[in-house]
Amino acid sequence: MIKNTLRMPAMFIGHGNPMNAITENPYRDAWQALGKTLPRPSAILCISAHWQTQGSKVNVADFPQTIHDFGGFPAELFAQQYAAPGAAAFAKIVCELFPANTITTTQDWGLDHGAWTVLQSLFPKADVPVFQLSLDLNLDFSGHFKLAKQLTSLRERGVMLIASGNIVHNLAKLNRLGTTPEWATHFDQYIKNALELHDENALLHIAQAGDCARLAVPTDEHYLPLLYIAAVWHPEDKMRFLTDNFDLGSLSMRSVIYQ
Ligand code: ZN
Repeated sequence: MIKNTLRMPAMFIGHGNPMNAITENPYRDAWQALGKTLPRPSAILCISAHWQTQGSKVNVADFPQTIHDFGGFPAELFAQQYAAPGAAAFAKIVCELFPANTITTTQDWGLDHGAWTVLQSLFPKADVPVFQLSLDLNLDFSGHFKLAKQLTSLRERGVMLIASGNIVHNLAKLNRLGTTPEWATHFDQYIKNALELHDENALLHIAQAGDCARLAVPTDEHYLPLLYIAAVWHPEDKMRFLTDNFDLGSLSMRSVIYQ
């Protein structure tokens, strides 16, 4: 059997603190090292925790702006620019893959910090066209997963999927000492097992993990991007984890790569 070497990787990156983009830290080191091993795609589709809309939207800007969607950080972080070109032609393919009337194009977005803080390390030259797809606020987990499956064929069309969020994301429980509570490790392990078993049901029904799910996923936006990657898994993919530890106690920095 001839292995299809053209299938682009798909990955979920635990982005965590935006400062990871400009400080010395093990996450940025791992992202930079990963970037050096990746093939060059024709385009990158980002699905970030930080773009939620009514109905799905896909960005068709020729030059997506770098969005500094945070507050209280140093000027150096606000000065960061990721000047990659857009990928309108690929965004239009996404519109064709989705069911009719479920997605619209927009130029009113660019690259939010879920996208650019990791792209800077993965593709530092900013020379690969990038576009973002939003998370539709009206969908439940199954709805997102179904939609995400429609994106599977993009991997064979030269598009790398990079989803960005955090498996455990509880800002109210951050602690500077970095002590990780039991509920956080428990939920992270539950998801790790589900990914290893390709257990779609476990990923879609996280309450099965127990009380830890409410604390690990108090709001769903940082978890949802993971579903977009789990949905485009191919049986020939090799799965590996990256940075499977916690930052500030309650941010799981676990990333997963299908390649
Ligand atoms: Zn975030």
